[in-house]
Amino acid sequence: AAKQSGRNRYQLFDTEQDSRARSLREAIVNARAALEQEQFRLYYQPKVNLCSGLIVGFEALIRWQHPEQGILAPAAFLVDLEETDLIVDIGDWVMETALAQLEAWQALGWDYPVSINIAARHLQQPDFLPRLQRALERHPAVPPRLLELEILETAALEDVGQVSLVIAACQRLGVGFALDDFGTGYSSLSYFKSLPARTLKIDQSFVRDMLHDPEALAIVEGVVGLTSAFQRSVVAEGMETVEHGVMLLRLGCIHAQGYAIARPMPAAEVPAWAASFEPDPRWVEVASQQWL
Ligand code: C2E
Ligand code: MG
Ligand code: MG
Ligand code: MG
Repeated sequence: AAKQSGRNRYQLFDTEQDSRARSLREAIVNARAALEQEQFRLYYQPKVNLCSGLIVGFEALIRWQHPEQGILAPAAFLVDLEETDLIVDIGDWVMETALAQLEAWQALGWDYPVSINIAARHLQQPDFLPRLQRALERHPAVPPRLLELEILETAALEDVGQVSLVIAACQRLGVGFALDDFGTGYSSLSYFKSLPARTLKIDQSFVRDMLHDPEALAIVEGVVGLTSAFQRSVVAEGMETVEHGVMLLRLGCIHAQGYAIARPMPAAEVPAWAASFEPDPRWVEVASQQWL
């Protein structure tokens, strides 16, 4: 009976906010344990030049190899942690793991850049730069130019002044920068101009919709024009079909990433994929019609 009334009292005060706080605490405890038990993995998804078929680089994407639930994508465990300090520790692990992978690929004679996703809270740590520098020093065989950091355009817009300083400082170290999910943040042209990122990644929603939605098409076209005017490079994300690739090439966007090229894969599968990848003949044809 005592237990029963205790439970009732608990329910009475268990507001939605409390239960959300409780599930966040649970998520933190679980993810912290996963980090300590080395259950996180990086998968790698290629970015390619659609005309030449040359690999432009790989994006490292975190996965949780959960002992019961199998491979979990970031939406299932990471998104809730973006506003907690744990995202900093996970981010440091991602950086270290990607650099170790770059080192292993260097030993194979590979020279492909790898990009990692950096949460705003990680980038905003006062000691972000010295930590990045120390991470690079732990992997002296890796030229810093092979590491690229991706930050969401929306996160960059939270504090354009500070973020542009960090971007500039990273680029002085040789590390590249990309604005991720570009087009979703409504960045004004003047903000964009002050963010010195080398690359823009066009958000996959625009790429997905551009074949049937004239406004999405206009945005893709606009971003491509913007990057060439500002001497940045551009990568289309979420290229799911060969037809998307054809349209991207018509718009002058030659670098792309998406399921039509490859899904994210464990590092061990990358060499065999790289050895067998060939661009679709339709891309090669469009490219030759446009530029020869
Ligand atoms: P993102 O950085 O924009 O990464 C692209 C996402 O789109 C990835 O989802 C990728 O698997 C997915 N994708 C790639 N090609 C296609 C396609 O053709 N169609 C569709 N529908 N999706 C495609 P993923 O791996 O689930 O990651 C989701 C987001 O989680 C990432 O978006 C990134 O913002 C975040 N994330 C991933 N790894 C990390 C990490 O290590 N650290 C941090 N802080 N965030 C990460
Ligand atoms: Mg990304
Ligand atoms: Mg993206
Ligand atoms: Mg995204």
